[in-house]
Amino acid sequence: MQNLKEYITHPVFSQIGKISDQEGIETYVVGGFVRDLLMERKREYYDIDVVTVGSGIVLATKVAAALRPGLKVTVFKNFGTAMFKFDDIDFEFVGARRESYQRESRKPFVEDGTLEDDQKRRDFTINALAICLNSDRFGDLLDSFNGVGDLERKIIRTPLEPEVTFSDDPLRMLRAIRFAAQLDFMIEDKTLEAIQTQCNRIEIVSRERVTDELNKIILSPKPSIGFKLLEKTGLLAIILPEIQKLKGRETRNGIGHKDNFYHTLEVLDRISKNTDNLWLRWSALLHDVAKPVTKRFDPRLGWTFHAHNFVGEKMLPSIFDRLKLPLNEKLKYVQKLVSLHMRPIVLSEEEVTDSAVRRLLCDAGDDIDDLMTLCEADITSKNPDKVSRFMSNFQLVREKLKDIEERDALRNFQPPITGEIIMETFSLPPGREIGIIKSAIKEAILEGEIHNNYDEAYQYMLAKGDELGLKAKI
Ligand code: ATP
Ligand code: MG
Repeated sequence: MQNLKEYITHPVFSQIGKISDQEGIETYVVGGFVRDLLMERKREYYDIDVVTVGSGIVLATKVAAALRPGLKVTVFKNFGTAMFKFDDIDFEFVGARRESYQRESRKPFVEDGTLEDDQKRRDFTINALAICLNSDRFGDLLDSFNGVGDLERKIIRTPLEPEVTFSDDPLRMLRAIRFAAQLDFMIEDKTLEAIQTQCNRIEIVSRERVTDELNKIILSPKPSIGFKLLEKTGLLAIILPEIQKLKGRETRNGIGHKDNFYHTLEVLDRISKNTDNLWLRWSALLHDVAKPVTKRFDPRLGWTFHAHNFVGEKMLPSIFDRLKLPLNEKLKYVQKLVSLHMRPIVLSEEEVTDSAVRRLLCDAGDDIDDLMTLCEADITSKNPDKVSRFMSNFQLVREKLKDIEERDALRNFQPPITGEIIMETFSLPPGREIGIIKSAIKEAILEGEIHNNYDEAYQYMLAKGDELGLKAKI
């Protein structure tokens, strides 16, 4: 039997062992901590799961008191679990259990069980490894389902028949795909087939949990691994039908269009090399979401997806709402990026004029750098000449952006002349003239006729007022 005591050096482990000995109960550390330890996977944060063949709540309370008097223990009586934080690590305690499920619910009947019962109810063999903490067997690795072999072969497999594991808790189907994406593992054939046959059962899982797993897939190093599996198993059509609909290509009059599903995944993988911002990654996933609904065939132009960026922007609130994603500034941010995602590309296709760059800067504001990151990821042509032409034009756009920004400070544009100044100058009540003059000033700045400063804008306002037959107060 493998012994891992040299890796479990944290003083909390020996304390848990000592108290378990005193209580006469067996206790193990299990789950992700053991898996990641054996994989030598570094984590930024972690939680440590502890299972005891006894009461998890009693054990947690006694261990916490021994570690530091007054250390706060949070108890979830309904679940029979308890946790405390020590050295910034969450230690979670649970009693070994046996569970039985009803068909239409994820909520099990729970009874006390043996360690073996507990390992069987775990989702995957690689998550069912346990290290003993009692002093006589401290560090012994228990591996009832050959999880170590699956770690070596990089395989996701359920400890029981997959139909049983997934039927008990359909969320595990998504967890399988999430771990495959995070760890770059294969899902074993039988396990994958069971997901395919049971994919409809995902409907009984709460939206929040589904979205939590989706976010983890999106944040994995190469999200396409997860999305290809979601598609293959039928889960994508249920949880994100809008992305499923991107799949496929059509040919008419000998003219085809690219498969927008695979294109989207390529964009998502490319952007993931450059950012860990979840919302920027969501923007990549959704940037072409309106292509299926805007697709037309024009005998002269071929396939068009007219205004798919704006239609996409409008589709997002209902998608976010359904997925229980935040309907706040995160949604606005993704909407902005989706609506603007073609602007830098269009711009780089033509001569890159100062005024076009100014307008882009003004519309994108602080998100201009993220928008450029999205656009660069979006250039996925198979034609290397086209890609290098785009990239060098892009470089030019970036230089101009920098240049103009330094000169004109247009990011988060605030007009140098306010409505109040206009009303005051021409003794006007609020009315449409104010708007006309204000937008004329903005246009003049964007077109480069005047600079973005008070004096030039003031002079421009006087001239514009004159044109409109207004008299300035002297
Ligand atoms: P990570 O912390 O990276 O998300 P993890 O494996 O620690 O990965 P947790 O969600 O923290 O996952 O759960 C801890 C352990 O509890 C898992 O390793 C697994 O053994 C078990 N587990 C969690 N959720 C389920 C589930 N839905 N069905 C069965 N077992 C589960
Ligand atoms: Mg964990």
